[in-house]
Amino acid sequence: MSNIVAIVGRPNVGKSTLYNRLTESRKAIVDDFSGVTRDRHYGVSEWVDKKFTVIDTGGYVANSTDVFEAAIREQVIIAIEEASVILFLVDVTTGITDLDDEIATLLRRSTKPVFVVVNKLDNNAQVSDATEFYSLGLGEIYTISSMTGSGTGELLDEVVKHFEEEDPEEASRPKYAIVGRPNVGKSSIINSLIGTDRNIVTPIAGTTRDSIHIHYNQYGHDFMLIDTAGLRKKTKVKENIEFYSVMRTIKALEEADVIILMIDATEGFEGQDMNIFHLAEKNKKGIVIVVNKWDLIEKNNKTVKVFEEQIREKIAPFTDVPIVFTSVTEKQRVLRVIETANKVYENRARKISTSKLNEVMLPIIEKYPPPSIKGKYVKIKYVTQINGTSPMFAFFCNLPQYVKEPYYRFIENQLRDNFELSGSPVQVWFRQK
Ligand code: GDP
Ligand code: GDP
Repeated sequence: MSNIVAIVGRPNVGKSTLYNRLTESRKAIVDDFSGVTRDRHYGVSEWVDKKFTVIDTGGYVANSTDVFEAAIREQVIIAIEEASVILFLVDVTTGITDLDDEIATLLRRSTKPVFVVVNKLDNNAQVSDATEFYSLGLGEIYTISSMTGSGTGELLDEVVKHFEEEDPEEASRPKYAIVGRPNVGKSSIINSLIGTDRNIVTPIAGTTRDSIHIHYNQYGHDFMLIDTAGLRKKTKVKENIEFYSVMRTIKALEEADVIILMIDATEGFEGQDMNIFHLAEKNKKGIVIVVNKWDLIEKNNKTVKVFEEQIREKIAPFTDVPIVFTSVTEKQRVLRVIETANKVYENRARKISTSKLNEVMLPIIEKYPPPSIKGKYVKIKYVTQINGTSPMFAFFCNLPQYVKEPYYRFIENQLRDNFELSGSPVQVWFRQK
């Protein structure tokens, strides 16, 4: 279940300052210019044990004045569609501006909770000035100082009350997200899977998430598909297409068990694909790579192999990821994608007994022990799997601090060679015993 808190507002009200405070990220750039292109700001935050993602929408605006206000308006609309809660940030030192009014008009139509957050209340004298913002017609106002952090606790106490709880039935189903750059074929594969047969698609009633959560229940499969392509392709501002797709991708990356990363065979595996891959890896998700539009590639009997090797080189060291070559338009291997995702889902949930682990791994370790450092020998006594959402293994030994990175890599590869873990993240720990 992902909860996204979007910070919207015109430039210079303090969005990125608030973002930094909520996420405690040090990377964001704070400056006095309005309209500079910033890093894309999204990060995780936590308040009273509730995790959520914060998005600073200001990070997506281009530095050109003609599209500037249109871009902001569009982002507000996207935030209303995609976020769980919207923080509408305004500035007490300037009062209400025309752009504030325009944003408020859009937000008044929102079905999502909107919080009017009056920023820059660094001293008490200004508290009375804040009351002006009631006239935006968006209900209660929250006064804060992003700079000092005052008021943010009270704000978050209210915000977390508006997070949705996940339906237990939905929670128990495998979730596969189809992600990738625009135009790789995400909508096409979803259409090909669900067709127009509404019977196999059960939108989750009563939620605002219908459009992206698709229940697939056919041919003995029962899982949720998370669609990141969605319906919105009609954005007017170029940067917002990316903003939108990033927003959906983050949600998908949080919610899914398996990430189906789709690429376009004619374009290859590029920077943006790498980013998504690494995010999936960092979030300990299962991964399947789908190389689509395979019909457009001129092939001989080596093409698949060469293509695969190029991808595996780029995703090293996590090279043990299934790669499926598809043509959605020619209906080639579309179901294979789902079967592969099922397999990866199983691998990610795999539990290996302690006896089996020791039976297989101890002889390997005996044959290839960790190299001694300064005459010290690491003795690994036994291994056991630790409970978690993805496979984690603890190797108990006398001197864990002497086990170096290459040996971790070696052990991970041995685990992958000996057990079915393809496409699943694997964590290896050495612990004192
Ligand atoms: P954004 O364009 O909405 O992301 O705004 P920024 O976070 O870049 O902030 C714009 C300016 O307002 C910067 O100079 C910040 O230091 C300043 N600022 C942000 N929050 C506060 C605050 O709580 N109090 C004061 N006095 N200044 C702030
Ligand atoms: P999305 O933006 O990732 O959802 O991509 P779409 O599903 O909208 O596809 C973008 C374009 O690629 C459309 O014109 C599709 O018809 C086309 N397309 C999708 N899959 C294939 C394929 O396997 N082969 C070819 N040749 N074209 C494809």
